[in-house]
Amino acid sequence: MTYSYTQISQYLTCPRRYRHRYLDGWREKDTRAAMLFGRAFEQALAARFRGEDPGISLYQEWSACQKSELHFSKNDTWDRMLQQGIQLLDRFCQDDRIRIRQHRRNLQVKVVRPVSATNDFVAYVDAIGYLDGTRCLLEWKTTSSRYPEEPNGLLALDPQLVCYSWMTGIAEVAQVVFVRKRLVEVQYLRTTITDEQRQEFGQLVEDTVRRIESAQFLPHSGIRFPQNPCSSCPYVGLCLGRQDLADTALVRRPGAEELGWLDELNY
Ligand code: SF4
Repeated sequence: MTYSYTQISQYLTCPRRYRHRYLDGWREKDTRAAMLFGRAFEQALAARFRGEDPGISLYQEWSACQKSELHFSKNDTWDRMLQQGIQLLDRFCQDDRIRIRQHRRNLQVKVVRPVSATNDFVAYVDAIGYLDGTRCLLEWKTTSSRYPEEPNGLLALDPQLVCYSWMTGIAEVAQVVFVRKRLVEVQYLRTTITDEQRQEFGQLVEDTVRRIESAQFLPHSGIRFPQNPCSSCPYVGLCLGRQDLADTALVRRPGAEELGWLDELNY
């Protein structure tokens, strides 16, 4: 079995959700415009580091999504997102704070680590490069609102960065956050992950895998503010026995368990 950060995170959010997704094969329909835009934008960033025109790449990748039945968040349209994307790429190129050497090796870096005799853990790190001259692991994020920067040091608690630091052994980590708002902004957030955090994350993975393999899938339900995971959960139709709701949000994919790690490429 090959596990990924997304799988562990889904299990920790709600074990029942993990079962719906990875064992029963239900997954969300790929119609969320923000998610598809994020993928197209990452392709454009990769084009920039290959020395190609990132704006052309973004237009091509985002055009390929135009025919899909896309669901946009409020105020978003296909054109508006493209325009924001082009502005963000311009800002990123002007800032010129990121360097990636040997782009073939250092973009979308696949890392595999055994977690037991029969299980591996796989991660696809967006990039390994330099932010303002410091070598670090880099993650790209596209979002419609700024990431919080207070209290100071908050980024060190980001579980995905801790996970990738654990996978690669690289302590310096950074998120480059592309904020799609009226006046676009690129945030460069850097932090250091400690040995203790990496060790604890390894223990968390071992413990979670053990619980998955003992078939512990009790729901962590909740509908009270601010802890309301069920209200925004795509699997709520299955938990309520409402097939009509499930059909709107989900498709079923047979044999999903073996391919769960592929989700890592989508998030
Ligand atoms: S609807 Fe609630 S209980 Fe059901 S999978 Fe989602 S979070 Fe878990």
